[in-house]
Amino acid sequence: MGDHDTISPYFYAFREHPMSRFWSQVVHDLTPYVPGEQPKIPGLIKLNTNENPFPPSPRVLAAIQAELGDDAGCLRRYPDPNADLLKNAIARQHGLTARQVFVGNGSDEVLAHAFQALLKHEQAILFPDITYSFYPVYCGLYGVDYRTVPLADDFSINPLDYCGQSNGGIIFPNPNAPTGCLLALDAIEQILQANPNSVVIVDEAYVNFGGKTAIPLVDRYDNLLVIHTLSKACSLAGLRVGFALGHKDLIAALERVKNSFNSYPLDRLAIVGATAAIEDAAYYEANSQTVIATREQLIGALCTLGFEVLPSAANFVFARHLHHDAARLASDLRDKKIIVRHFKLPRIDQFLRITVGTAAECTILSDTLRELLG
Ligand SMILES: *Cc1c(COP(=O)(O)O)cnc(C)c1O
Repeated sequence: MGDHDTISPYFYAFREHPMSRFWSQVVHDLTPYVPGEQPKIPGLIKLNTNENPFPPSPRVLAAIQAELGDDAGCLRRYPDPNADLLKNAIARQHGLTARQVFVGNGSDEVLAHAFQALLKHEQAILFPDITYSFYPVYCGLYGVDYRTVPLADDFSINPLDYCGQSNGGIIFPNPNAPTGCLLALDAIEQILQANPNSVVIVDEAYVNFGGKTAIPLVDRYDNLLVIHTLSKACSLAGLRVGFALGHKDLIAALERVKNSFNSYPLDRLAIVGATAAIEDAAYYEANSQTVIATREQLIGALCTLGFEVLPSAANFVFARHLHHDAARLASDLRDKKIIVRHFKLPRIDQFLRITVGTAAECTILSDTLRELLG
């Protein structure tokens, strides 16, 4: 067993900045993303990385078992570099063609390729000041200039802030992370129309929990790229599958980067497992409805305890207590074996991002908070 099993990644992130004379300048200058911790503590209630509390569709396991067969002989062979089976399933589900679909090893990889292929231009790109913290990391990795656009005081995105400023591209999650706030489709259309010469990337990691997808706009706007992941709504964070939908010329750019980087980003098990998940939309729709119902109960319980909770269209809530410090609460919860996410960042350092778990987990969370708040 390695150190990673017992030592929090924060230990590595905050210890003295290491360096070596063998490092390239690029590596020296990087500020890597720090993912939420994955500790192996028995009985832990893990509400820090927005994983789905329900297992994947049984069809996913059946497809993986069928692929493996009795002797896992298929693993001798490379997978299909184009993952056509999966692309076709995704295209069919959304009424698009396979040439409008790109698949990658988690949507983080899809995002990375999009930064390099579509957002690296002369001009700075735009994204909200409070958003997915991987975006500035990719900018650092690929040398993409960016300008952040402050969210409104209520933490919503104002579409007008993205209209009439020339830019090298625009990216935001919808619903936004870590706020959970949703932007309406007509606002997205307004941004697309105001920026015909920029790629607008909508990262829909959480759209299945009450949002409206921009996918129907793909056929009408050649500057729109919509990115999805199977990690959240499809309970497959461990399989690493994400995809992008857009005009075939945008997809071709992503394929060029992918084929200059790794021909086989999706392994055989990921291709068949993800395809089975895409084809069992009914199973996942029911789970998402359960998560939404639990989220609304959790919001009610948190408000009763004196939290202010932002409206959420995601599988997490973003909440602050008027009289209790967020970092302290996170650490007190951790002592009680419940982990939530706290970002030590301007404007949001008094918030906790809490993943919606099962109803039972959320009840334990609110009971524990009641106890801690006294
Ligand atoms: C979780 C998340 C992703 C990454 O998902 P993976 O497919 O697991 O890499 C991308 N964007 C946002 C906003 C997320 O929250």
